[in-house]
Amino acid sequence: MISTHCPICLKQKPYEDLLSHLSQHGYDGIQASILLNYDKTYKGLIDHINLKLPEVDQLDERFVLYKKFLQETYRFFKPLPSEYEKLDVKKNITELISIYREILGCKIFKIKTRFESSEPATDIDKYEIVVLYSIYEELLDYQNELKQDIEPSQIQISCPEAVKRGNTFYIGWDHIEFRESKIAVKIHEIQRELTFKIPSSQLLLNYLKENYFKVRFKDEQFRIAFITDRKLNLDQSTIQRIDDLLKANSRDIEEMLKNVELKGEFINVENLIKPVVIDKPNDGFVKNKHEYIQLAVTYCYGDDKVYSIRENYNGKEEGAIIIEYKRSHHTYLLVENENLNRSAHLYTFDKNSTENVEKVCGFYLSDKENKRGIIKERGIDFKKELDTVFNVKTLYHSDFKKYRDHLLEYLYKIG
Ligand SMILES: [Zn+2]
Repeated sequence: MISTHCPICLKQKPYEDLLSHLSQHGYDGIQASILLNYDKTYKGLIDHINLKLPEVDQLDERFVLYKKFLQETYRFFKPLPSEYEKLDVKKNITELISIYREILGCKIFKIKTRFESSEPATDIDKYEIVVLYSIYEELLDYQNELKQDIEPSQIQISCPEAVKRGNTFYIGWDHIEFRESKIAVKIHEIQRELTFKIPSSQLLLNYLKENYFKVRFKDEQFRIAFITDRKLNLDQSTIQRIDDLLKANSRDIEEMLKNVELKGEFINVENLIKPVVIDKPNDGFVKNKHEYIQLAVTYCYGDDKVYSIRENYNGKEEGAIIIEYKRSHHTYLLVENENLNRSAHLYTFDKNSTENVEKVCGFYLSDKENKRGIIKERGIDFKKELDTVFNVKTLYHSDFKKYRDHLLEYLYKIG
């Protein structure tokens, strides 16, 4: 089916004109054709009809390849705030993702009806529906996370004031935080944190800020220009120069990094805050917590422990708990955030492994953004980082029974 309107602003136009129209919103050709190619007749069904997903062999190489391909293709459906800023859509990011979800929902239902028609389903159909649905779920998660976005009053950005001229801020190293493949820029005046893709950035570079960047490039200033209060003017901004600077000095930087003695970026032992053990967790402790935490705590016995931690959720501190279950074959750690909108994670460790809580705690306290996304997309090698962990499972708070069944399966069946 060929669309005759723009899914973003609903303008009606012939298909050929819509392609170029979408490029004005900031989409490339492939993205535009994805946005236009869906069947409206299936609109809204995904929220009202139960979807039975086919079984696929997750390890089948063809599935793995196809999954990778689809995830790449649809990656733009889950824009980072900095990518979103580049679009000209006059919609806020959650509204935009709702449109993407609607489009995905239609695509998923079209495949579903193909299944139910007499023709036998092809493997490709099976793969596609499984992967598209997982992307759909991720978008739901992402939307929930965005809804809880940092409230301005809570950022409490601790950096010097930036120099402002007209619509442009001049910032220095103190405003910059290096992350993996991007940087975060904190501007106190607007109480916002902006992120920019800087491919050569890495977390460890933060350790070189005082003794290298602030010395060697003492007078370096970067411009961040705005068109309106919220929209960046990337042409007038010079922040991307950081990437050139990192590349040009990569040899020096590598040398310096060798001298930074750290156990890896993942766990910063010095800053590790010891988790607090909760005494008698069944008493007052769980009373004010959501039902998923209440349930999980009831499965504690013997040496099992409940720890209270603070999670660093995209710069904001949130209450979280870690439950350590010691079972006959494995030690399980369940990480639950007190906010119901955050999904939980269940880590499986070899039963002889040690310091599991400290290691996992390090991850949640770290300033990595989008932790749930990292876990879901296997953006981190947990086997390497956490030594003996061999499985991390995401547990959602959307279906109480499903959650309970998962826990029971691990804690009592596998043990
Ligand atoms: Zn439009």
